[in-house]
Amino acid sequence: MSQLKRVLVTGGAGFLGSHLCERMVKLGHDVICLDNFFTSQKSNIWHLLEKPNFELIRHDVTLPVYLEVDEIFNLACPASPVHYQHDPIQTTKVSVSGAINMLGMARRVGAKILQASTSEVYGDPDVHPQPESYRGNVNPIGPRACYDEGKRCAETLFFDYHRHHNVNIRVVRIFNTYGPRMHPYDGRVVSNFILQALAGENITIYGDGSQTRSFCYVDDLVEGIARMMEGPDTFVGPVNLGNPGEFTIKQLAEMVIEMTGSKSKLDFAPLPADDPTQRQPDITLAKDKLDWQPTVELREGLKKTIDYFRGLDLSQYRKPTTNTIK
Ligand code: NAD
Ligand code: UDP
Repeated sequence: MSQLKRVLVTGGAGFLGSHLCERMVKLGHDVICLDNFFTSQKSNIWHLLEKPNFELIRHDVTLPVYLEVDEIFNLACPASPVHYQHDPIQTTKVSVSGAINMLGMARRVGAKILQASTSEVYGDPDVHPQPESYRGNVNPIGPRACYDEGKRCAETLFFDYHRHHNVNIRVVRIFNTYGPRMHPYDGRVVSNFILQALAGENITIYGDGSQTRSFCYVDDLVEGIARMMEGPDTFVGPVNLGNPGEFTIKQLAEMVIEMTGSKSKLDFAPLPADDPTQRQPDITLAKDKLDWQPTVELREGLKKTIDYFRGLDLSQYRKPTTNTIK
């Protein structure tokens, strides 16, 4: 059988999706990018549009679609808190109906399908670092629930389609990932801090900045996703993908200020409800099963991301929601 595959990437014009599409196009696969551009725009994939093995479909995953493919990477979903809380009911629909539609397609055409799940399934964790066996501490009625519970339900659907319909699944739980092509107005901590530092504006720290996150550079993450998809059918996950290097948000702010040479000062604002106090992936399973671990240190990845944002023409970006930074 030919090694070349027909690959569908939902959310393929987004931050992670565009890097994944790029990788698949370079490998020579026939790539379909499906996106409704809710939190992205064509500029992420302009360079791919001229390639003969790349195709773009503007479509919403909550609606059925019929395609013939060998592999599906299901990434479509608003991912940053300001984006997913903008229209929370739609966020739950994207996670749940989107998963049902894509799993139905996978079942019909016999495709392998990977779900981009998230560290948010662990909620505000009381186990640290978080192994895959930890079942989480999620508030089902809070402002983050549309995303957390939506993604948890999507995992449930993946495993039930696997058990009941023999669908060949993979589930990865992605921890905070950053890099070029993040949306400048997604409100995530890395993009906010870099934009604020470059503009010489105050850096908005929510809470006292002692909460932690572990930041993974996009190239490492995409490598992990690809290994999981290519790995043996006996290992379906869920598997954590993230960089175990853990930093407080205040440390991140200070690093960004230093690396940009900015005169920005720290500005403390209230901590949003249910904001996790600590987060660090236990990647023992990924190391063991996929021989994968991140190779890009935070400083090195931040440098590339800062360079990207420095070169960005912000007038070309619309703000997808009203609650992003000014
Ligand atoms: P992103 O917002 O850049 O990408 C999401 C893409 O999905 C966008 O292009 C958006 O337009 C598209 N989309 C949204 N709703 C859609 C719909 N109804 N139909 C079709 N397309 C739709 O975010 P990202 O960081 O690239 O995240 C990609 C995936 O990875 C998401 O599923 C997210 O939950 C998951 N993830 C990301 C991170 C991270 O740190 N980046 C962490 C955990 C999980
Ligand atoms: N955060 C912050 N200032 C910002 C944006 C985010 O202090 O301008 C904090 C946020 O409260 C959280 C952390 O940074 O504690 C990571 O936020 P992000 O939205 O990037 O992702 P999360 O991991 O919370 O989904």
